[in-house]
Amino acid sequence: MTDCIFCRLIKGELPSDIVYRDDDVIAFRDIDPKAPVHILIIPLKHIRTVNDLSPADQMLVGKMILIAQKIAEQERIDQRGYRLIFNCNRDGGQAVYHIHLHLLGGRGMHWPPG
Ligand code: AMP
Ligand code: ZN
Repeated sequence: MTDCIFCRLIKGELPSDIVYRDDDVIAFRDIDPKAPVHILIIPLKHIRTVNDLSPADQMLVGKMILIAQKIAEQERIDQRGYRLIFNCNRDGGQAVYHIHLHLLGGRGMHWPPG
């Protein structure tokens, strides 16, 4: 989608700090990090929200989580721990309507979240 900032980022129309890329998924550092490590893992395919996922996306979403696991190891936060988050729609705090998995780490996380 041309008006989607993450689709534009995938096409290289916006600058980004990419840490991983394959034929299905891209991962890059969040422009406004909320923790020492804050990386977004997104599918190349434009999917608006978690509500729009279908059974056909099962492998894709599983892959996103396994990529997050690998990046957490690379960033050396795997043993201390980290948090994976999908925000969905307004109450979930979603600002960008192209699904993204937040990988947050490098500090203790609060619970319950705000
Ligand atoms: P969410 O609130 O879950 O939709 O999260 C959107 C995230 O995208 C926020 O953490 C933003 O800081 C981040 N973000 C927005 N634009 C960019 C960009 N151009 N490059 C990297 N991260 C971005
Ligand atoms: Zn998009």
